[in-house]
Amino acid sequence: MAETDRRTIIAGIGAGLVAAAANGACAAPRDRKIGYAVVGLGGYAELIMSKFAECDNARLTALVSGTPAKLERFGTQYKIPASHRYSYANFDSIRDNPDVDVVYVILPNSMHAEYTVRAARAGKHVMCEKPMAVSTAECQTMIDACRAAGRKLMIGYRSRFEPHNRLAIEMARNGFVGPTRIITSEHGFNAQPNQWRLDRALAGGGSLMDIGIYSLNAVRYLTGEEPVEVSAMESTDRSDPRFGTVEDRISFLMRFPSGIESTCVSSYSSNHNAYRVIGTKGWIGLEPATGYDGHKMFVHRDGRTEQQSVPAGKKQHAGQLDHFAECIINDTQPLVPGEEGLADLRVIEAIYRSAREGRRVQVGA
Ligand code: NDP
Repeated sequence: MAETDRRTIIAGIGAGLVAAAANGACAAPRDRKIGYAVVGLGGYAELIMSKFAECDNARLTALVSGTPAKLERFGTQYKIPASHRYSYANFDSIRDNPDVDVVYVILPNSMHAEYTVRAARAGKHVMCEKPMAVSTAECQTMIDACRAAGRKLMIGYRSRFEPHNRLAIEMARNGFVGPTRIITSEHGFNAQPNQWRLDRALAGGGSLMDIGIYSLNAVRYLTGEEPVEVSAMESTDRSDPRFGTVEDRISFLMRFPSGIESTCVSSYSSNHNAYRVIGTKGWIGLEPATGYDGHKMFVHRDGRTEQQSVPAGKKQHAGQLDHFAECIINDTQPLVPGEEGLADLRVIEAIYRSAREGRRVQVGA
């Protein structure tokens, strides 16, 4: 492909992304922003709460916590009145608060299902963190509860709102480096001891549930396909006190209907954050790929590797919060609804089964 053609395609995709971001900025005139209650005031919730300042259509209106000191601290910081601060015990009374449209569940994984169902029953839309839950059965219960209540459900897959990832999706699905053949995707970090992530009862699993899910989810969004078959291998040093109940590393291969294959890494004892889409004519690589910031894209074509500049758009956290608000304002389906979380859990269950039984497993079988 000639250099001008290459630039034109990327500029075209980039312009499309910028236009899409601009279109979403404010869809319908409203007298107020969509109000969010954040449930579970831990590390990620603290980051999320700081991002409402960048939003056009979303605002923080309530807090839910089991720690009174946090309610006091964050309530003061974000000017949330005492009437809008809840404990887990009186959480259900949030139904009477008209300033709360959305409940954003940012609790340990095994608590996602309970608080999503309770929020839906209280008449609220739900944003739930990844992994959606600890089993496909729980995911289905959450979807059913939101549907029965006539409320929307979205999963916190923030990378879908991150400009580098959005451009990579466009390029991969449009065959910019030829039809995709292989995707490699690696995610991992060194897990600190003594935290709920290392307790199966709260986490539902180990690195795969927490960080390896990014390897899986990226391959699904880069291909736009669902894997049909997986093969996995787990490596866990059970003498390491961190890994008494959950896995450390789990590597998995996936095969897709079009013939695309992927090879993925998930780790709690080494640092990784990258993926590469390899087509018949080159590759598109992101590293870091799915972090909070600092993303870099590289494109290899015609024997040359170049760093690709990516048009700046709305940042991923504000993009995610505003997107769900706009879905509520316009009554449209979220980009990453509950079914997306369920699809990941379906593959995760197949991966665990493959590793446990030492054989290839059909997804959903
Ligand atoms: P933290 O441990 O930092 O916070 C979890 C909070 O949940 C606690 O601070 C506590 O808040 C509340 N909680 C209630 N019951 C328990 C319990 N039994 N044990 C521990 N905490 C409890 O976790 P994170 O914020 O890192 O993760 C929370 C969720 O967010 C997870 O599902 C995780 O996967 C997801 N996450 C997503 C990220 C993303 O980029 N999308 C990044 C990081 C996490 P309180 O004291 O207020 O009750």
